[in-house]
Amino acid sequence: MVKNLICCFFVSIISILLFHHLNIYSINNSRVNYSTFLSDVNNDNIIKIQINDKKVEVTKKDMTKYITYIPFHDPQLLHSLLEKNVIIAGPVPQASNFLISTLSSIFPGFLSTIMWFFLTKIISNSNGQGALFFGKSKAKMLSNSKINITFSDIAGCKEAKEDVSEIVEYLKEPGRFQKLGGKIPKGILMVGPPGTGKTLLAKAIAGEANVPFFTISGSDFVEMFVGVGASRVRDMFENARRYAPCIIFIDEIDAVGKQRGTSVGNNHDEREQTLNQILVEMDGFKVNTGIILIAATNRPDVLDPALLRPGRFDRQVVVSLPDLLGREEILKIHMRKVSVANDVIPIVIARSTPGFSGADLANLVNESALLAARCHKIAITMLEFEISKDKIIMGSERRSIVMTEHQKESTAYHESGHAIVGRLVPSHDPLHKVTIIPRGQALGITLFLPTNDIDVLVTHRQKLEGQIATLYGGRLAEEIIYGSDKVSTGASNDIRIATDLARKMVTQWGFSDKLGPILYMNEDKEFFLEKSGSQLKRFSDKTIQIIDEEVKSIIEINCQRAKKILNENIDILHAMKDALIKYETINLLQIDDLMSRKTVREPEGWNLR
Ligand code: ADP
Ligand code: ZN
Repeated sequence: MVKNLICCFFVSIISILLFHHLNIYSINNSRVNYSTFLSDVNNDNIIKIQINDKKVEVTKKDMTKYITYIPFHDPQLLHSLLEKNVIIAGPVPQASNFLISTLSSIFPGFLSTIMWFFLTKIISNSNGQGALFFGKSKAKMLSNSKINITFSDIAGCKEAKEDVSEIVEYLKEPGRFQKLGGKIPKGILMVGPPGTGKTLLAKAIAGEANVPFFTISGSDFVEMFVGVGASRVRDMFENARRYAPCIIFIDEIDAVGKQRGTSVGNNHDEREQTLNQILVEMDGFKVNTGIILIAATNRPDVLDPALLRPGRFDRQVVVSLPDLLGREEILKIHMRKVSVANDVIPIVIARSTPGFSGADLANLVNESALLAARCHKIAITMLEFEISKDKIIMGSERRSIVMTEHQKESTAYHESGHAIVGRLVPSHDPLHKVTIIPRGQALGITLFLPTNDIDVLVTHRQKLEGQIATLYGGRLAEEIIYGSDKVSTGASNDIRIATDLARKMVTQWGFSDKLGPILYMNEDKEFFLEKSGSQLKRFSDKTIQIIDEEVKSIIEINCQRAKKILNENIDILHAMKDALIKYETINLLQIDDLMSRKTVREPEGWNLR
């Protein structure tokens, strides 16, 4: 949309410039002084003149033109002109002169108006809003009649629901609270990973309290034209004041609310002005005006501290990823809307989806429903849930990719390498399945799934080092089998993740003995600034060098560990490769057989093929 606006802007400017040019050309006959004109007359250079009061338009014999002005009454001139047979013409009739000049001055404006009209038409069609909304609030208002979401539509965030239930009471009866003089927070910051239901919860507050709900995203504020964001904020609050009690919901507040003076780039002035306006508005409204401002972010660490001061977003509600029972509840909520076969047991699905957000689970139910419909089933069975789950976790199968025999074999060795190291390092997440059917960007996948929810949230050093060793297991298996000069590029993603883990261990989690538990780098992989006196300064080159060395050493140690494991179990490596080439996907039971050096059983239903 911004692009459209700019384009519109430029078209108008160009059309105006163009017509200015035309205007200039139409009177572009250069101006010449009177004595030159007289000498031209005397030298018989002139063919025609057109006199309009004191202004004379002169046409020379070579057909060039110029203009001159008669500075004084010159009775001699007429004589000379007649003598040289110069054609003398009077003024051009006023009417046509007037018409041309009027048209030429109106036309550009007219043209740009038309263009503006059509372009804004296009723009407004594209987002369903009226034309000319510069600075007009883009906040969408969902009135109370439209919000039929209640707390019963949300699960897996019990604490968050309890935290905000007080707000619902207040919005229902602001008067009661005002009389008692109780203070209700004006601003609530919802913090949590994407898709955990922050928007849903804000809507449910409005739905429960039956009040209007205004919503805007932080990224909507960040526009090209300075001042637009700030005026949008003003508009939105003005609107909200009229509809109070109500809720204003700002999604992705980090887009505008980043710490001031930290970012570089085109938009930061605009962002800061918008942020300032939000702060001004928040300070402006009294505690009990009946407007509750709710903002959502998954990056509370980057927010400007000014936003979090008392009287602003001083209440934080954490909306975290759902735990096992939460996932079961969320699945049940979304299964209410579709028909599900009897064999589907929500808790079983919940158990195999640790780390899934509410949005992921909603997506899982939806994908399964689509798949069942595609297979002409009348209800979704467990099979559809299994397939959709794999698709969400690992990406769609891409059986259309044709792999050569060698690619298949090297992929099988690579994935087996991951699997074997993952099974043999201490405290690794359990192995779930291994496959050499390409999915998403990967030619093969080794899937580990954490068993409990705590593992998703916190982890420890031993486990991290095990993960790093496992990540290098793939590449090392290729190296052991084919030699280091034949290793494929397929491990680039493994290397990226492993390096990232090692770097975090050193710079964020304090696992380096040399550097100690100090934060050196933020989530955006920028070096953290060290405070020295009142100044912020970068860490010294020496420190950065030690960080690099520590990262390298963690990786080296774990690579050696993985190599040792693979060399000691090279027979399992060959056997697993064979199993993968035969079955393409091997499950947990088959992996167990392989690891205990038994003959690999066939997967269920294999002989029916
Ligand atoms: P967020 O704002 O935290 O990114 P949303 O509220 O936009 O997440 O969630 C997107 C969708 O995912 C919701 O519309 C809903 O269908 C589903 N969802 C997310 N969290 C939950 C939850 N806790 N309970 C039920 N459904 C959820
Ligand atoms: Zn790999």
